[in-house]
Amino acid sequence: MIVIRNLSKSYKTSSGAFPALQNVSLQIEKGDIFGIIGFSGAGKSTLIRCLNRLEEPDSGSIEIEGTVITDLNGKELRLARQKIGMIFQQFNLLDAKTVYQNVAFPLQVAGHPKAHIRERVREILDLVGLGDKENAYPSQLSGGQKQRVGIARALVNEPDVLLSDEATSALDPQTTYSILELLRDINRQLKLTVVLITHELDVLQHICRSMAVIESGRIVETGPVDKLFLNP
Ligand code: ADP
Ligand code: ADP
Repeated sequence: MIVIRNLSKSYKTSSGAFPALQNVSLQIEKGDIFGIIGFSGAGKSTLIRCLNRLEEPDSGSIEIEGTVITDLNGKELRLARQKIGMIFQQFNLLDAKTVYQNVAFPLQVAGHPKAHIRERVREILDLVGLGDKENAYPSQLSGGQKQRVGIARALVNEPDVLLSDEATSALDPQTTYSILELLRDINRQLKLTVVLITHELDVLQHICRSMAVIESGRIVETGPVDKLFLNP
C-alpha cells in the first residue's frame, strides 16, 4: 500500500513560490492499477516524481509498503528506489546501448553477478515480448518496442511499484492499447502496484481500477473508476 499524507510542493519562480501540490493525501492499495488524471499543469508529474523522490516535497510524507520514503537518504534511499520502477513518455533509453545493455544497466548498478544478470535480462525481455531484440539499438525500434524496453528496465530489479509518467502519450492508439494490455498483464502476473498519470480519459478507463482527479495541485475526487464514471 502507498499512503501519501499532506504532501505539498512549491516551485520557486521569478514571481514568487508557485504551489504545484497543496496538501495532497491519497491511499493506493497494494496490487491496484491507480490512475491520476488532470489537465496539463495540474501537478501530476510533480506528484508521481515525489513518489520516488526525483522531486523533493516541501512537507508531508509518503509511505510505500511500510517504508516512509520521505524519511530516507543516501544508501537507504538508493535501495528503496530499486523497489520503485518508472517508465516515461519519452522512454529515456540510453541510445548508445543495446536493448540488452539498457535492461542490464540497473542490475549492473546494483552490483549483481553477470550470470544472474544474463538470466534475469533474458527472462524479463521474454516477458515484454522482446526476446529477439537483445542486440538492437533503440534507434532500430518502434515507439512501442522502445516502451517495452523501458518497461523491462523498470521491472528488472523486481520492484513493488511501477510508476508511469504518461507512458503512452507519444504512441499511436493501437500501440497505446498494446502497452496498456502489457501493463495489465504485468500487474496481474507480478502482483505489482501500478500508479500512472495521464491526461487521457481513455487510458484511465481502459486499465485503471481506482483513480484520483487532480486540479491546480489539489485532489478533487478519488475512488473506484467504475463508481466515478457511473455517478458523474
Ligand atoms: P502536469 O504533470 O500535471 O502537467 P507538473 O507537475 O508538471 O503538472 O507541473 C505543475 C505546475 O508546476 C505547472 O504549473 C508547472 O508549470 C509548474 N512547474 C513544474 N516544474 C516546475 C519547475 N521546475 N519550476 C517551476 N515551475 C514548475
Ligand atoms: P561491459 O562494459 O562490461 O562489456 P556490457 O553492458 O556491454 O558491459 O555487457 C555486460 C555483460 O553482458 C558482458 O559480459 C556482455 O558480454 C554481456 N552481454 C551483452 N549483451 C549481451 C547479450 N545480448 N546476450 C548475452 N550477454 C550479453
